[in-house]
Amino acid sequence: MSRRGGSRSGRRRGYWTLRIDIVTLFPGIFVGPLQESILGRARAKGLVEINVVNLRDWAESRHRVTDDYPFGGGGGMVLKPEPLFACVEALRGVGSRVILLDPQGRRFRQEIARELSQAAHLILLCGRYEGVDERVREHLVDDEISIGDYVLTGGELPALVVTDAVVRLLPGALGDQAAPAKDSFGAGLLEGPHYTRPEEFGGWRVPEVLLSGDHARIARWRRWQALWRTWRRRPDLLETAELTPEEQKLIEEFKQGRKPDA
Ligand code: SAM
Repeated sequence: MSRRGGSRSGRRRGYWTLRIDIVTLFPGIFVGPLQESILGRARAKGLVEINVVNLRDWAESRHRVTDDYPFGGGGGMVLKPEPLFACVEALRGVGSRVILLDPQGRRFRQEIARELSQAAHLILLCGRYEGVDERVREHLVDDEISIGDYVLTGGELPALVVTDAVVRLLPGALGDQAAPAKDSFGAGLLEGPHYTRPEEFGGWRVPEVLLSGDHARIARWRRWQALWRTWRRRPDLLETAELTPEEQKLIEEFKQGRKPDA
């Protein structure tokens, strides 16, 4: 995508169309993922406008240089500040949030995805090589996001991770509007198990309750399974989850060895 400027998010049935500009040296990485499945459909429905912006188009030099050697020596290259500043200044509008994908940023979580899904315009900056000139971090960006404690070769995959997590939260993006609230982290817990046909596979039967047609019993079973699973796998989440007194008692019983009812 070529040079363009100004935020021009539109309105869609009571909501702003979220606009996401992804600034990268490797636009080809985005071709498949942005066309497929939920992301592709959300774009087609006008829930989100996603532009992949080639940083090279913003380099002024004849050879469109976007990186240079680090002052002080050492290996690797560093992304120069001028193209990034020029590009962001042109894209940025009222309400834009400029986010640098960076392993040193705050760790990405569902809560952050929810927060970003309320924005009108996100500008995601993908670093490469040794990263970006420090003045970008200090004077250009509003936020820095890491997708985990490991180092990737570039910010493109993290930008796709953030985009996917944010877009699926936009009203209308998923067939089931209530899905994000039921998903893991949606209500502060991990989600319980799912089963589909056949009822029996390899000698393993689907839990009887799911075939009972008793919706109240099923809902209770699912909630208990979510609590059990969260307690077993991510007990840290229980510290902030909203639990009823009965559920708190249940967790105490899990600690004493009780298993969730089948
Ligand atoms: N030298 C940097 C450091 O040690 O902090 C790592 C640079 S990394 C090889 C190149 C780029 O990949 C980064 O500028 C960033 O945009 C992206 N990146 C790598 N790992 C990431 C992560 N865990 N989360 C978000 N972005 C990441």
